[in-house]
Amino acid sequence: MRKVSNLLPPRMTFEIGNTTGMGTNYDVVIVGGGVVGSSIAYFLSANPDFGGKIAVIERDPYYTASSSSLSTSAIRQQFGTAPNIAMSRFSIDFLRQVKTRLAIGDELADIGLHEPGYLVLATPERADAQRAKNRVQRGMGVDAELIEQVDLARRFPWLNTDDLALGSLGLGSEGWFDGPGLMQAFRRKARTQGVDYLAATVTGLTMASSSKVGEVVLDNGDRLAAGTVINAAGPWSAGIARMAGADLPVVPSKRCVFVFETPAKIENCPFIFDTSGLWLRPEGQLFLCGVPPVRENEPDDFGLDVDYELFDELIWPALAHRVPGFEQLRMLRAWAGLYEYNTFDHSGIIGRHPEVSNLVLATGFSGHGMMHAAATGSGVSDLIAYGEYRSIDLSAFRYERIAANQPIEEHVY
Ligand SMILES: Cc1cc2nc3c(=O)[nH]c(=O)nc-3n(C[C@H](O)[C@H](O)[C@H](O)COP(=O)(O)OP(=O)(O)OC[C@H]3O[C@@H](n4cnc5c(N)ncnc54)[C@H](O)[C@@H]3O)c2cc1C
Repeated sequence: MRKVSNLLPPRMTFEIGNTTGMGTNYDVVIVGGGVVGSSIAYFLSANPDFGGKIAVIERDPYYTASSSSLSTSAIRQQFGTAPNIAMSRFSIDFLRQVKTRLAIGDELADIGLHEPGYLVLATPERADAQRAKNRVQRGMGVDAELIEQVDLARRFPWLNTDDLALGSLGLGSEGWFDGPGLMQAFRRKARTQGVDYLAATVTGLTMASSSKVGEVVLDNGDRLAAGTVINAAGPWSAGIARMAGADLPVVPSKRCVFVFETPAKIENCPFIFDTSGLWLRPEGQLFLCGVPPVRENEPDDFGLDVDYELFDELIWPALAHRVPGFEQLRMLRAWAGLYEYNTFDHSGIIGRHPEVSNLVLATGFSGHGMMHAAATGSGVSDLIAYGEYRSIDLSAFRYERIAANQPIEEHVY
């Protein structure tokens, strides 16, 4: 096995956008042009009932550090709560229509959606909990099958099932896609619909009153008067909220992704969540994998150095245990990206800030932001255009649940 330097995943090329605003008044200013900000920009500018001017401010127009360009971009339905399942349902429907919905003229938007499912594995100790979760999920319409050990071994002959009791396999609507491609398709389409993308850094928000943002201040000296400001700044969103005097329990949480090749024949491999915490999935002829960090050991900073020790110490032994064929593998490259981690309950924080009336939040997705970007964009667009949710009800994700100590109880992977 050989380690190579931290090569980032490939990216498409695209136009940077303007460096100064076309006008200084905008009905809506979106801070952050990643997949979430760009989805909101797309849905809002596509809404015939909204005729306002929209600007997206993005300081990193090549998206070198944005979560959206470093994401592994999988989608699952196997959540434990109705609001997150509803987000996944909405989003998979949209992803299936992306080709035409985000087409520009004759040019279709292909994000290479694959739907082989997620396989969540359980030891005998965790089997009852997994069965209970599966009952809840099926009750909410999720098509996930519980497969007992014997059948698991038959269905996936390359899998070591010795220490397993069962697996829960999503039978559709789960898989992965080209996330950076989705972000750029949203962005391109939003621009053709009249949205201004400005390549600049937001350095401050001025307050029109104690409960209302007045202007968005940029590092190039521009000041944009904004009717509504949307905070879609991902891992950096707590800093944007602070500019309006608001607290947000969102911190950066680093995730390392490793790419490997193997001579082993691993057929029909779904996305796998192992009992060890390891996740893995195929990517063409290669495989991607990773493990979640131990939160207590994490610095809350924005560093993107790869922790190579993770691969040798944790990941490779876990890979070889679960899939004996992976004893032979070669790690090809690795990269790190940041989750916008919601320390309160690991789910999105979406909607108007209760104390700053024209500040709308769309952040804190904690590893679900790519799969839930379409639902977020559509819901937030409704909120701006109509003052209420119409296409999907996102009220469960309101900021107020934090002060009320009412977490959305969701397991984080
Ligand atoms: C390794 C990894 C794997 C992941 N896997 C999955 C997965 O399988 N499925 C899934 O659903 N999600 C996954 N995620 C999470 C998902 O990628 C994120 O939730 C999602 O990309 C968040 O999008 P965003 O637009 O909110 O943030 P970002 O893409 O980070 O966009 C925010 C943007 O705000 C800009 N910005 C910040 N501050 C300022 C400022 N002051 N002025 C101007 N611009 C600013 C930044 O430059 C950035 O581009 C993964 C994330 C990582 C890192």
